[in-house]
Amino acid sequence: MCNSKSIYIHIPFCLRKCAYCDFYSETRLSLIPDYLKALEMEIHLREGSDLSPPHGLIDTIYLGGGTPSLLDIKQIDRIFQTLNTRFRVSPDAEITVEINPGTVDGNYLAGLKGTGVNRLSIGAQSFDDAKLAFLNRIHTAGEALKTIDRAETAGFENISLDLIYGVPGETRTAWIKDLKKALDMRPSHISAYMLTLEPGTPLADQVKQGDFIPLGNDMMSLLFKTTSQYLTQNGFEHYEISNFSRGRTNRSRHNSRYWHMASYLGFGPGAHSYDGAVRSWNHRSIDGYITDLSSGRLPVEDREILSPEQKMIEFIMLRLRTLEGIDLGQFQDRFQLPFTKRFEIILSRILGENLGSIENGRFFLNLEGRTFLNGIVEAFSAEIL
Ligand code: SF4
Repeated sequence: MCNSKSIYIHIPFCLRKCAYCDFYSETRLSLIPDYLKALEMEIHLREGSDLSPPHGLIDTIYLGGGTPSLLDIKQIDRIFQTLNTRFRVSPDAEITVEINPGTVDGNYLAGLKGTGVNRLSIGAQSFDDAKLAFLNRIHTAGEALKTIDRAETAGFENISLDLIYGVPGETRTAWIKDLKKALDMRPSHISAYMLTLEPGTPLADQVKQGDFIPLGNDMMSLLFKTTSQYLTQNGFEHYEISNFSRGRTNRSRHNSRYWHMASYLGFGPGAHSYDGAVRSWNHRSIDGYITDLSSGRLPVEDREILSPEQKMIEFIMLRLRTLEGIDLGQFQDRFQLPFTKRFEIILSRILGENLGSIENGRFFLNLEGRTFLNGIVEAFSAEIL
């Protein structure tokens, strides 16, 4: 495994909550200055603690949220400067910032380019105003299109678009129209997420009250397959269950690290870190985060040492999400077990039902198999535990 590392920075602020979102974020924007002080403190404190950064170059940095584009350019630049004082960042590191259309203009995007950011993940979600309103997004389709145009003008070549499918009543035709609009903007990467009803979100409450009926599993599977077929026909590689890239070089290097269970450092409330053996995570509350750091304490809520069984389940779950699937030699090296023997019964069912294949030393699910990903991972988990 390569010796380079990844850093995730959580910017937990949003102008308002989207109806489907259960990520931790705050609408009290007045906390931003105190938050950034605390974040700097966390970056400084991590060195010399038991969570100190592993040696090696930082190869990917990802500012996610929340809405990182609510920070001004100086604030973003300062985060990078702080990171540079503590870590060795590779000169060709992939540096991504999530952008919410409706929070940025052309000047902002040009400024961002000047800070060294070389990849944008634009949360367009849809190019249909009714769908955006249903999701309670802060922007219109027109603003999303303008933001993508402006990003190109600012010189960004590596642009990823986030899209959501599966809102109530959405048809295959409507979703293809959305996908087509996205392709017209020539992104290098698309993340297409199925709408899920997370407990406690306004959307989940509306379903409980009978305000609308969510799409059924069959329709969701159809939309999932449609996404894959449509985007692969149009030159994209379906390299992870929700992710599509125009060629291998445009895959998200940062997210690929997670899918390979590589180590990473996360800063900010709720952020997770993993060093290959121990996973730790910070308090989700921004108030607790600021209080801890202003008293010189790391804001770690808890940590766990992954058992060999947990590692095996995660490895299988993460690798089966990907196009390449499980490298049987790598599995043997990691777990000292022959994969095909250990899971003979499950494998014979999957192969018998034509949901996956073993080829060139790899076991992977096909598109049909990936529609049953959760059930398949559960079957492996039950076998391991
Ligand atoms: S902008 Fe993103 S993080 Fe903020 S509420 Fe919407 S989906 Fe959640």
